[in-house]
Amino acid sequence: MSKSNENYALALQGGAGAVAGRDYAVTEAHLKKLAEDCGRMLAGGDRALDVVEHAVAELETCGLYVAGRGSAPNSAGYVELDASIMDGQSREAGAVAALRDFVSPVQVARGVMEKTPHVLLAGNGAAAFARSNNFAEVSNPKTYYTLPIGVTNDDIKDIAHGTVGAVALDSCGGLAAATSTGGTFGKLEGRIGDTPLIGPGTWSDENLAVSCTGTGEHIIRAGGAAAIAFRYRSGLTLLDAIDEMLDEVKRLGGDAGVVAVTSNGEIAMPYNSAGMKRASVSKNSALTVATFG
Ligand code: ASP
Repeated sequence: MSKSNENYALALQGGAGAVAGRDYAVTEAHLKKLAEDCGRMLAGGDRALDVVEHAVAELETCGLYVAGRGSAPNSAGYVELDASIMDGQSREAGAVAALRDFVSPVQVARGVMEKTPHVLLAGNGAAAFARSNNFAEVSNPKTYYTLPIGVTNDDIKDIAHGTVGAVALDSCGGLAAATSTGGTFGKLEGRIGDTPLIGPGTWSDENLAVSCTGTGEHIIRAGGAAAIAFRYRSGLTLLDAIDEMLDEVKRLGGDAGVVAVTSNGEIAMPYNSAGMKRASVSKNSALTVATFG
């Protein structure tokens, strides 16, 4: 049973890696409004699980980030989507990988969590599950997908990946995390990164909720979100636990960013990539939104 603490906290990420000198005013305004909406939901008593799903579905469908609508095609020319969601108290989790042409992969991931005995469905099986449970499909993939605003094909080398994610603590002490991505641009068909993996990409338990972004191959090999949770559980501060994982990613040759909230309402959003689009709000702290700095 969750304890009532009447506190709430939320952090959103719109992906690690940003291009210096570019104007991120549109995404920052979007993140600010979404954080305000989610803060209101949490203040009104909504569950963390519902709030992170709502946030990530909005980030997927708006086309501003490399997830859902803003995803780029793989090397075979079509979009494959990854997403995951986890509830801290129950430890229930659901995920989809290499899913084609559904509007909100995170909603399908929650469906996997609630309607199947499994945690992760991939490829054709994930699509068959989503179809048979009436999740909204992309009616015309040729026109639906759009590179995020301000991104051109010439940029693809510089911002070769992107992700969205949300973590929340609700007023009953519930914690949840969700993450969604189109993965890395030009990835091999069937490539799956950290995002749909419960452990590396997304983690929530009774102590904290974590969503990762960055180079998935390195995050997976550094342990990612669960590696942070285990360090935190064994006594490290939240920031030290995150920094150790990020250092490991760096040592392996990648870069990454993290958003996390704890059961005490602490929020952390560190990264060692070139910027990370992010926003946060809690009962006890004002809304923040930033890309660099
Ligand atoms: N982690 C994601 C992936 O490797 C990409 C990102 O977060 O930018 O698929």
